[in-house]
Amino acid sequence: MNSKKSDFGLIGLAVMGQNLVLNVESRGFQVSVYNRTVDKTNEFIAANPGKQLVGCDTLEAFVQSLASPRKIQIMVKAGAPVDQVIEQLIPLLDQDDIIIDGGNSLYTDTERRDAYLADKGLRFIGAGVSGGEEGARKGPAIMPGGPASTWEVMKPIFESIAAKVDGQPCVVHIGPGGAGHYVKMIHNGIEYGDMQLICEAYSLFKAAGFTTDEMAAIFNEWNEGALQSYLIQITGKALEQRDPETGQPLVDLILDKAGQKGTGQWTQLNAAENAVVIGTINAAVEARVLSSQKKQRVAASEHLQGPVADLSAAKKNLVAKVHDALYASKVISYTQGFDLIKTMGEKKQWNLDFGGIASIWRGGCIIRARFLNHITDAYRTDPALVNLMLAPFFKDVLNNAQQNWREVVALAVGHGIPVPAFSSSLSYYDSYRSHRLSANLLQAQRDFFGAHTYERTDKPEGQFFHTEWPEVI
Ligand code: NAP
Repeated sequence: MNSKKSDFGLIGLAVMGQNLVLNVESRGFQVSVYNRTVDKTNEFIAANPGKQLVGCDTLEAFVQSLASPRKIQIMVKAGAPVDQVIEQLIPLLDQDDIIIDGGNSLYTDTERRDAYLADKGLRFIGAGVSGGEEGARKGPAIMPGGPASTWEVMKPIFESIAAKVDGQPCVVHIGPGGAGHYVKMIHNGIEYGDMQLICEAYSLFKAAGFTTDEMAAIFNEWNEGALQSYLIQITGKALEQRDPETGQPLVDLILDKAGQKGTGQWTQLNAAENAVVIGTINAAVEARVLSSQKKQRVAASEHLQGPVADLSAAKKNLVAKVHDALYASKVISYTQGFDLIKTMGEKKQWNLDFGGIASIWRGGCIIRARFLNHITDAYRTDPALVNLMLAPFFKDVLNNAQQNWREVVALAVGHGIPVPAFSSSLSYYDSYRSHRLSANLLQAQRDFFGAHTYERTDKPEGQFFHTEWPEVI
């Protein structure tokens, strides 16, 4: 019987929990584990002999096995299960023990739990963990939110298990309360955008007649340049994959119906509540929704006409053009994501370090990319930067890419190939750089039917006018 108390405890031995436990243990910590279904605990302990692991059949035994102050990470299904586990833990814990929720919890739930547990004299960290199974095992990006003093207690463990880039751990204290889970939510929204943009590039290459092997080679090459990222890398590998049964490229056999778990929609809702434009992420979420309506699409394809989606005549230089369209759209997606983070950070007074956030996303997580260094540089150079597009590096990227970007969107539209994220990104770019938009007419319409008033170009700002418009029957 092991009498040494454990340094860390984890509840929830599904994919993420198991891998995180093995990661923490591998850094020299003794870890106690508990899972609602005890068989899973027993199987996990049996599968990992000789490690500093303590399997517990009951929550009581689990809590008793931990050194004080106890550090307990919950990795169960997000939502009500987290509250249920917290309720079961509360009577067993002592003042100042720490509960960490490492699941994909909605940040407002985290804020509620933070206040609730503080009231009970317990400490709480809501930490977004990104990187899936492999990240959890080898080093995820971690986005912890909660009191700075609690973060200091957790820092040695979190810094040791996090991914490292240039020797720096991919974890920083994001801010108080729900800040960590909030930033993780936006990370996921950005991830939706990145994935959709890559899929749009793929659809253009497919329409131009590139084989999957040729496309794999394009993505592999892109992974050596400015677009270097985990998602580009796995796209190349996914395109290379053959189906063992038929020998065909596996992607050609995968049904074109995308799933989603909801963090993209949470991002959409939050952006709508805060009047922040995140068109690229919206396009990505909606593309998944439309993809899932396969039956309707198949039926509509019999009735609704469009041009032939054949880009073979435009194959020359297409790769370079699509590269630029993807790069520029990616800049827009991150611009919008950071605008949302900035808006919420100010509203909540979270005092966020945008450069630090970009820097911890460089490793461990799904959106890890070389590109993020430039975002860190942009915010380190100018912490008050109003819009990422205006940082010198990104300004140059966009100015250099914009012509090819337009040509790609025009080509896609002309051939009936949907590129919602490319085109939405370009519209954002063109709207944001427009000295004058068509909203003058919009204001006239609003004043016409609702007497909402308008300002004038030839009068000082802040003076409002109303016109007695002609009566319309
Ligand atoms: P999951 O499928 O989301 O959850 C399964 C775990 O939750 C099991 O251990 C299950 O216990 C436990 N559970 C469910 N309801 C419970 C309840 N009412 N009381 C106690 N335990 C309960 O597991 P996961 O995929 O490893 O994800 C864990 C968390 O990490 C989630 O919030 C997820 O969104 C987040 N996350 C996942 C990934 C990923 O790639 N999978 C990446 C980042 C973040 P039983 O064995 O008893 O059923």
